[in-house]
Amino acid sequence: MIKFEILVVGSSNTDMVIKAGHLPSAGETILGGVFFMNPGGKGANQAVAAARLGGKITFICKTGNDIFGKQSVQLFEEEGINTSYLLSDPKNPSGVALITVDDDAENCIVVASGANATLSPNDLQKTQEVIGNAGIVLMQLEIPLETVEYVAEKAINAGAKVILNPAPACKLPDSLLKKLFIITPNQTEAEMLTEIKVIDIDTAKQAAKIIQAKGVENVIITLGQNGALVLTEDVFTHVKAHKVNAVDTTAAGDVFNGALTVALAENLDLIAATEFACKAAAIAVTRLGAQSSAPYRNEISQVFN
Ligand code: ATP
Repeated sequence: MIKFEILVVGSSNTDMVIKAGHLPSAGETILGGVFFMNPGGKGANQAVAAARLGGKITFICKTGNDIFGKQSVQLFEEEGINTSYLLSDPKNPSGVALITVDDDAENCIVVASGANATLSPNDLQKTQEVIGNAGIVLMQLEIPLETVEYVAEKAINAGAKVILNPAPACKLPDSLLKKLFIITPNQTEAEMLTEIKVIDIDTAKQAAKIIQAKGVENVIITLGQNGALVLTEDVFTHVKAHKVNAVDTTAAGDVFNGALTVALAENLDLIAATEFACKAAAIAVTRLGAQSSAPYRNEISQVFN
């Protein structure tokens, strides 16, 4: 059987955003402006980005038995994502992020992980068949690390390739790094993994070498408007970002990872897949929002013909 399906395992949150003149200080109540409720969570963002780009996506996340969870499931279905393996937590609420954004675009965010934090290896025992069927498994770190490790182990045993976007930044055991086909840290995450302050291509190269030495097969460090540095075997390739009028870089990394995974599932090589990911992320940063900014497949060829 040809393995082509992409499995994303990760978080789903609902972002509740209030615009305000300034961020409230301790004990202060302020009257804000407009209120938005946006779907978010790195797992969901990456699953949606990959689905919009034409990937055949199965998503596993855990939501609460509440209105936010139900809305998320409905949105995933509308995006054409296979939702058969989504999990519901009867005891804990869905993940939410309370975000205040001020007039200078400064923000203050509190995340209640809720059901995301209870997505356990035990839950995933019931989903062995989908892990076994996946060609590529894409994960992030907004669910328990032991669950990421469990899925990575099952995935490689079943012959799947594992891509980890190590966000939010956190130290990782070498036992997990050794199982990864690709890791995609941004500059902060690369620093967390290596203690090298990644500020340019040279420092990105140093960090990539250190991460590779811990056992990861391929390293891609994303560098915001400077694109991405790829290290495969002992060859570095700098893939430049596209010059665009960036208005909101939220979820640039999520779109990058979703796109990279789709391109690899279509058998593009690592450099071509990174170029595709840079195109998709460049479109995303020209738009406001997280999931809403993810481009559809036809837009890639329209913008970059
Ligand atoms: P975020 O946390 O904002 O989702 P990130 O920090 O995980 O993003 P970045 O390294 O900032 O990830 O960006 C990911 C990719 O998005 C970059 O490799 C690049 O291709 C693209 N990108 C980011 N910012 C810009 C920009 N200003 N112009 C063009 N492309 C960009």
